[in-house]
Formats: sequence, C-alpha cells, structure tokens
Amino acid sequence: MLIRGQHIATGQVVDVLVNDASGLITDVAPPDPARTPDAGNSGLLIAPGLLDIHINGFAAVDFQNPALTADDLGRATLEQLRHGTTQYLVTIVSETRDRMIACFRAVSRALDRRPELARAVPGFHVEGPYLSAEEGPRGAHLREVLRAPSWEEFQQFQEAAGGRIRLITVAPELPGMTRFIEQATASGVVVGMGHTAASAQQIADAVAAGATVSTHLGNGSHAVLPRHANYIQAQLAEDRLKATFIADGHHLPPYVVKNFIRAKGVARSILVTDAVPPAGMPPGIYRYGRVEVEAKPGGLICLPGTPYLFGAATTLEKCVSNVVAWAGVSLADAVTMATDHPARLLGLAPRVLEKGAPADLIVFAWEDGQIRVTDAVAGGKRFSSTP
Ligand SMILES: [Zn+2]
Repeated sequence: MLIRGQHIATGQVVDVLVNDASGLITDVAPPDPARTPDAGNSGLLIAPGLLDIHINGFAAVDFQNPALTADDLGRATLEQLRHGTTQYLVTIVSETRDRMIACFRAVSRALDRRPELARAVPGFHVEGPYLSAEEGPRGAHLREVLRAPSWEEFQQFQEAAGGRIRLITVAPELPGMTRFIEQATASGVVVGMGHTAASAQQIADAVAAGATVSTHLGNGSHAVLPRHANYIQAQLAEDRLKATFIADGHHLPPYVVKNFIRAKGVARSILVTDAVPPAGMPPGIYRYGRVEVEAKPGGLICLPGTPYLFGAATTLEKCVSNVVAWAGVSLADAVTMATDHPARLLGLAPRVLEKGAPADLIVFAWEDGQIRVTDAVAGGKRFSSTP
C-alpha cells in the first residue's frame, strides 16, 4: 500500500509504503510521480494514528457494560478510526469488585477472539476504585463503591483483564497507597493520580513511590480551592509528572488549557478525551454503566437534570485542533501530545512515521484550523473516513 502526503514532522511530501501483511512501514521516501497512491495526495498530511488512553465508550458503545460483545467493541473501534484514533485504552471506572471483573472479562473475551481488536486496544486504563470520596474530587464516580487500595483485589482485576491493565488512576492520600503504588509500578503498571484531594507532601510521596502522570489534571477536583496551596498547583510544578488534559472547552476553558500546557511543557502534555458512550452520536440520553447520561447540543454531557459534567463527547482529533488554537503550539507538537507522548508513557513503541514502525497512521486535511481525517491505516488495512 502506498500513502502520499506531507509528513507531519518535516512538512515534506513523502510516499509511505506499507506491507499489508506485516502491518509495518517498509519505507518513507520522496514521492514517486510514476506511482498512484492508494490514499492521500500531496495536499494532505500524514501523521501517526491517534492514541487515546482515556475512553469509556464511543458511538453508543458502553465499555462499562458487563454484557459488552466483540461486535460492540468492533463498532466503537471502527467509529474511532473514522475520527483518526487508531488505538485506545478501554477505561473501566469505579464499580463493585464483581462488576469490574465482569467488565474486564467481557472486553478480554473480545480481544482474545479478534486480532484486529487486540491490535486497536493495547490494554486497559482502570480509573478507580481507589479514589477520593470527597464531593468534587470524586467527580461522577459512584461514592458507595470508592474504597482504600487492595493489592489482592487489583490482582484479581489484572487476572480478569488477561494481564492487560497498563494504567491505573488512584488518589495518593488513601491509606496504604504508597505501598500500592510501589507494587503496581513494580508489576509494570503505570500509575496516575486523579480524583484526589492530596496534599503537596502526599503528591511528592506518590511520585517517589512511582506515579508518573496526572490524570485529566484540573478535573475531578473541588470547585473552589485555596489560591496557592492546592493539588493542581503542586502537580503542575512537579516535573516528574506528565499530565493528561481534556481539551474540549467544557472540562477546561481555553485559557486554562493554555496555562496548563505552558506549565507542563509540550513534552509532558498528553491529550485524552475521557469520552463516554454519547461521543460520536447525536444529542440524547445514553446508558453508561448503571446510570443514564444526557448529551446536550454542543457536546456537554451531564447527569440528566443536573449541571455536573459526566465525561466528554469530544474526539481526540478535535482536542488536537483545540490545542493548536488555544495553547499556541504547532500542529506537529499538538499531534505528538495525542500520539507519541501517550505511547511513551505506556512503554509502547514510539509513534513515528519511520521505516520499521507499525503502520498505524492517519491521512488528513488541515482546514480552517480543524483536522478532517480522510483515511486511517491500521494493521495493514486502510479505512476511509467518508461514511
Ligand atoms: Zn475521571
């Protein structure tokens, strides 16, 4: 397969050659005028496929559903491909032990059966259940299922997940958390902090124990905080922590996105959607786990009848465009925040357009400050984004 377009990092027009069988890039070369590309043209851009490490559902598919099927997961995967997200971590949130185990099993069964899904989903993000139960920090997590960390329980989750849990988000201030972070880190799981009311000392202790990322920094927090001594400032100033941001304009206003990305720096910034089942769908009421959520016109997701945010309806391509508009970074830098940076956080192969790299890539137009994906290539197959 031959894909032509402007290389996102260099701006040069290139031909990217893909071995359909191996799914690897076999060459990145100057364009050959004698050959007609299978996708793309010299006016479009080529970038690595987007990687979303925080997504709870998409296209009305609910990852928090213990009865999730391989077809459901396939539908969510295909719809995300149309928006340029070629890989994602299925995110399971706080629930009872049995329900979480059932969710891990349902997704794992689908990944075991379908290699194309196993390629798209390199693992799980577990957000909870070891989070703050305080109003504000707990966000929309069910209060009654939040609890202190248990390594024994987490190992049951990991077993149900087929060893695929790659990232867990925890609140550092919970009793026994330092030890838990050390154990999780030693087992190869990346530890993030979020839905927390931790002190600066507790944040520092969590980092010393192995935590490496702040989860959707600025969200899952109190509505009002002390102006200086607060956990957002402490995490922003901690250079050993990377941070994920929901740059949808609802979770963080544009000027906060700008401040946070400047404070963290491009290299430590990662974009996520925190998307829930209504993402990619028209406004309406949708099922998410045991609750119903309302998607309002304009992309706001709430518990029906309340103003509280309940996940996002955005896409990662939209977040990349937003960051270019709001944070004063280049398109190439914004793309790395949704490709290579999350991959490096998880210890996955670098997401670059180079010979020998996985052919996980997107072709897109950059029009009026927006990404319009025309094609995605994943696992040696091409997916056109036109419905
Ligand atoms: Zn959250």
